[in-house]
Amino acid sequence: MSFRRLAEIVIGILAFSFILIQPQSQADKIAEPRFNNVYPQMAKDRFSRLYPRKAARTYRENGPDEWITFSEPFIGPAVHTITFHLQQGRVLGWALDDRSEVVLEYLGEFCSQGILNGMPKIHEALTDVFMRIPQADFLQVTDRHRPVLITEYYDAGTARFANTSEIIASDTDALAGDKGLTIIKLSSALNDADSAEPIKGVLAHELAHRILAHALKGKVTCQDERQANQLIRKWGFTSEYKAAVRLFGRKEGDPVSCREE
Ligand SMILES: [Zn+2]
Repeated sequence: MSFRRLAEIVIGILAFSFILIQPQSQADKIAEPRFNNVYPQMAKDRFSRLYPRKAARTYRENGPDEWITFSEPFIGPAVHTITFHLQQGRVLGWALDDRSEVVLEYLGEFCSQGILNGMPKIHEALTDVFMRIPQADFLQVTDRHRPVLITEYYDAGTARFANTSEIIASDTDALAGDKGLTIIKLSSALNDADSAEPIKGVLAHELAHRILAHALKGKVTCQDERQANQLIRKWGFTSEYKAAVRLFGRKEGDPVSCREE
């Protein structure tokens, strides 16, 4: 047998197996894409055995539609998010790292209705900051086991004396806050800014403190303030931070040594 003949036979066999295998695998890809054994039109009870709601990062419901997000990989440190869209109890589709959806879910669960419904500039700034921070930091601050709660306080009206933010949980909800939490309290006066830009600077700065674990030490120093500002520059919020300093000034009591331009 010549080499050529062997090659022809080998090619023949390869081509034959290609023909045998290819249509099958192509058909699989088109008709039945899967993500970790989840497939379109999968019933919710079956889906929930693979992805139980108790293990979710965040979720959102709107009439017959539900979105539910998990860490990816499912076990171990999160690198990505995977969001499944269910409609009328069946899986409709999914998306990896759908940041805008995850932000919607997160704010729906962990930000007060007072901000979401009544303070549009703060709401816009929150969404933008959460959209723009790097993935690893985003995953950290939106970890429901140690969430960042965002709520408002009022500097005018009777609500300035006292107001309450209620967090409602049901039996089916995933555990939250079992590893602690950060509370960011935003003044209603922030919403009086001409635009969302300076508010973004303030929010990014507060999130930077959380990422840098400053509050865990008990006392936030000038060095910590500088470190937080360095981090938000790295995140790309330099102009927003400058706008915040211009508009809101510095915190009363900030030592002169804390100041930097
Ligand atoms: Zn600070």
